[in-house]
Amino acid sequence: MIAQQSTTIPPLVSGGVMLTYRCTNACKHCLYRCSPRHEPHFAPPEQVDATFAALAREPRLSGVHLAGGEATLDWDRLVYAIQSARKHHVTLDYLETNASWCRDETTARAGFERLQQAGLNGVLISASLFHNEFTPLAYTKAAVRAAWDVFGRGGVLIWTPDVLSRMDRGLDEDRRHTLKQSCELLGIDLDSGELWQVHGYLTPGGRCAERLQSGIRRLPAEAFEGSSCKGTLASTHHFHIDPFGNLYSGHCPGISVASIENLHPGISEASHPLFWRLWEGGPFAVWSDLASDFRPDASGYISKCHFCLELRKHLRATASGRFGELRPDEFYR
Ligand code: SF4
Ligand code: SF4
Repeated sequence: MIAQQSTTIPPLVSGGVMLTYRCTNACKHCLYRCSPRHEPHFAPPEQVDATFAALAREPRLSGVHLAGGEATLDWDRLVYAIQSARKHHVTLDYLETNASWCRDETTARAGFERLQQAGLNGVLISASLFHNEFTPLAYTKAAVRAAWDVFGRGGVLIWTPDVLSRMDRGLDEDRRHTLKQSCELLGIDLDSGELWQVHGYLTPGGRCAERLQSGIRRLPAEAFEGSSCKGTLASTHHFHIDPFGNLYSGHCPGISVASIENLHPGISEASHPLFWRLWEGGPFAVWSDLASDFRPDASGYISKCHFCLELRKHLRATASGRFGELRPDEFYR
């Protein structure tokens, strides 16, 4: 029987505007599954404008950051996005960058100055063992020094400073290290889950769930029965709008019921059956009601979101577009 209740996405509070899924890196912890294999698609100017116009209408919005993928892969589009945010009076908190373009301090400073002139006031510079598989530490350090010069110490967020100083003490700054190499050099036990403690912010979804399972306790799909996702899906404190205009609430990329055309649609069992079940009963309810042919991995899952991702990939492959909430193609590529 079709339920009569309906709900919607609450007002947006704080989040990110993704300009592309394409990235120089393919970090093992990437929640958004970004990589160089993605199409070189960047949000076009008219969509960037529509995104910031929609955000400007949000009554509780405190600010947004710009992100990718790696947003510096198209400097002109990035500058346009900064200018568009200013034009629409949306507060830009920072740009997130992996520093892959900061081959020396001069290059980094020139890039940051260009962005500052467009209206940017701060950056977040990623520093992790996952990024170091692609970006040498010398690039990360050049980015930090140049950003301090341009934005001041208060305008630079290093994510995270602990990992940066640990890498600085134990890694050759001029080369990249595989995760195995950096763990060996820094005395981190790759097989005990210690990586998750070192990078305490990891979210067990996306590529993180697919690639960082070592040492993490696994649970059978049945263990997630009765675990609703309402609290996460209703959270708009770390939302993202992707380069196609899809809104992700919570930390749930690849699941979207709203877009920049309408950020707060009516959501019911009839209109969005898959999202509704996640909201009410989590991925276990999706499995029971919509995907009974799914055979869970007998070795279990490291998290509910890992189970959810594998279930969604199955539905994408077998339900031939039946669930419009599972978008965009780019995320599932
Ligand atoms: S975590 Fe950042 S740098 Fe790494 S692949 Fe994802 S978007 Fe790119
Ligand atoms: S299980 Fe799925 S819907 Fe629920 S919080 Fe995780 S990714 Fe989001």
